[in-house]
Amino acid sequence: MNGPQMTAVTNVPADRRRAAEALLEETPKLLFIDGRFTDSKAGGRIPVTNPATGQIIAEVAEARAEDIDTAVAAAARAFTQSEWNRLTPSRRGTLLWRLADLLEQHADDFALLETLDNGKPLSLARGDVDASVEVFRYYAGWAGKVDGRSVQPVSLQGWQAITVRQPVGVVGQIIPWNFPLNMASWKLAPALAAGNTVVLKPSELTPLTALRLGSLIERAGFPAGVVNILPGYGQSAGSALAHDRRVAKVAFTGSVATGQAVATAALASLTRVTLELGGKSPNIVLPDADPRKAIDGICKAIFTNQGEVCTAGSRAYVHASIFDEVAAGVEQEAVNLRVGDGLAPETQMGPLISGGHRTRVHGFVERAQQSGALINAGGEIPEGNGFYYPPTVIRDAAHRSEIVQQEVFGPVLLLTPYETESQLIGLANGTDFGLAAGIWGNDVSTILRLADQLQAGTVWINGYHAVDPALPFGGWKSSGWGRELGPDALDHYTETKSIYLANA
Ligand code: NAD
Repeated sequence: MNGPQMTAVTNVPADRRRAAEALLEETPKLLFIDGRFTDSKAGGRIPVTNPATGQIIAEVAEARAEDIDTAVAAAARAFTQSEWNRLTPSRRGTLLWRLADLLEQHADDFALLETLDNGKPLSLARGDVDASVEVFRYYAGWAGKVDGRSVQPVSLQGWQAITVRQPVGVVGQIIPWNFPLNMASWKLAPALAAGNTVVLKPSELTPLTALRLGSLIERAGFPAGVVNILPGYGQSAGSALAHDRRVAKVAFTGSVATGQAVATAALASLTRVTLELGGKSPNIVLPDADPRKAIDGICKAIFTNQGEVCTAGSRAYVHASIFDEVAAGVEQEAVNLRVGDGLAPETQMGPLISGGHRTRVHGFVERAQQSGALINAGGEIPEGNGFYYPPTVIRDAAHRSEIVQQEVFGPVLLLTPYETESQLIGLANGTDFGLAAGIWGNDVSTILRLADQLQAGTVWINGYHAVDPALPFGGWKSSGWGRELGPDALDHYTETKSIYLANA
C-alpha cells in the first residue's frame, strides 16, 4: 500500500436521501407473476443491503422453486393462449416503445434506486437507465423486421422455398448484480421483440430496479404472464429455472462457474443456452499513444463501476518506452479518485457490492503481493462502514499468476511493460477469457493489425466501455456462448423453419 488510507466520501444531500427513502417505500417488493405482484409461496424474504452503508434497506419476497414453477406456467400460458401470440409484430414494437418512454419518464427514480441497491455513482446509474431506454427502443424497431428469406433450391426441380423465424417460447433469463437494470433490458428487449414470453431472475443482491420495471411493464400494457420477474437465490430459484423443461431457452449473464452449472442443467433437456461470462481484458498502449489520454483511458477502463464490469480493462500493457510515465500517471490518478457513497455528488467510484465480495477481491491482492507483485496504489481495506475498496494498481505480476489469469471483478489493475508486438499478442491473448480489449495509439496499420489478432468479442480503439445496442456483444473462449444486442441477439430468440412448396 502506498500513501495514506482512503477515506470514503459520505456527504449525501438530505433531499437526495429523502427522495431515495420515499422511492424505496413505494418500490414493489413482491414477485411479479402473471401480471400481478404476489407473495412467494413459502413467504421467504431476501434482505437488500445498501453497499455504501452496509445497512439493510428493504426486504423483498424470495422466489423458490415452486414460485418459478408458477411463473413458468404463466409464461407458457401467455405464449400459447393469451392475446400476446395474436398481437401483430408492430403492436409488440409499440409496447416495447411505450415501455422505453415510461422508463425515460422515470429515469431519475430508477437511477436513484439503482445507486441505493448497487452502490454505483448516481451519474453512472443514470447513464445505465438511459442506455436501457435505448435498448428497448432499438428492439422496438426490430419487432416487425424479424424476417425469413425466400430461397431458390439448388438441387430440386419443381420446388420453391421460404424460411420463417418464430419465437422459441418461454425464455428463462438469469442476470447479475453489476448492471441490474441494464442487464434486464438486454435480456427482455430482444426476447419480447421476437414474440417470446419471459421469466427473469434478477440477482438476489440487486432486485429493486427489476421489480420496479415490472410495474412499468404492467402500465405499458403487456398482457399478463408475458414478463415475470422473480428475485431469488441462484441455488434455488436460478437452478429451478435452468432445469425447467418447459423453458425453451436460457439466457445467462454471470460468472464462469455459474454459467457452467446453468449449461449443465440445460443440457438434460437440450434447452438452448447463451452465456455472457467473465473477462480479463487487455488494454494496450502503443509507443505513439498520447500518454495523458492513455492514463485516463486505463483508469476509466478499470475503475468505472468499481471495476465490477465484465469488460473491465484489468490488464494494461504499456510499451516499455513510455511505461514509467504512464504507470506513474495511472497510480497518481488511482490515489486521487474519490471513492464514496454513490449518492454523494463528489463520488467518482462507489463501494463494492458486498462484504463477501470485498473479502474476495482483497484476497486476490494479498496473494499477488505474497507472490512478489508490487502494490503501488490502494490494496488495503479502509476502516468504517460500507464495502469500500480503494483503486488498486499492481506492477510486476507474473503472467501465469492467479491475479493475471483470473477475473477479480473489482478496482484492481495490473500494469505490465512490453517490448515487441509478438510478445504483446502472447500476453494479451494469454488467458482463458476473450471478452474485450482496448488499444491506445495513432498508427492505423499497427492498430488494425493488433485488432485483427486479439481474441476478443469487442475491441475499442482510443476509447473504452462504449456499448451500442446495434452492435453484437459477447465473448470468445471462456467468456461465453452467443451474442447479445444487435440483430445477432434475435437469432438466439428465434427458431428458423424451412418451408418447401411444390409448384407442380
Ligand atoms: P453469479 O454467477 O454469481 O450470479 C449470476 C446470476 O446467477 C445471479 O442471478 C445468481 O443468483 C444466479 N445463480 C447463481 N447460482 C446459480 C445456479 N446454480 N443456477 C442458476 N442461477 C444461479 O455472478 P455475479 O457475481 O452475480 O456477477 C458477476 C459475474 O458476472 C462476473 O463474472 C462478470 O464478469 C459476469 N458478467 C458478465 C457480463 C457479460 O456480458 N459477459 C456482464 C455482466 C457480468
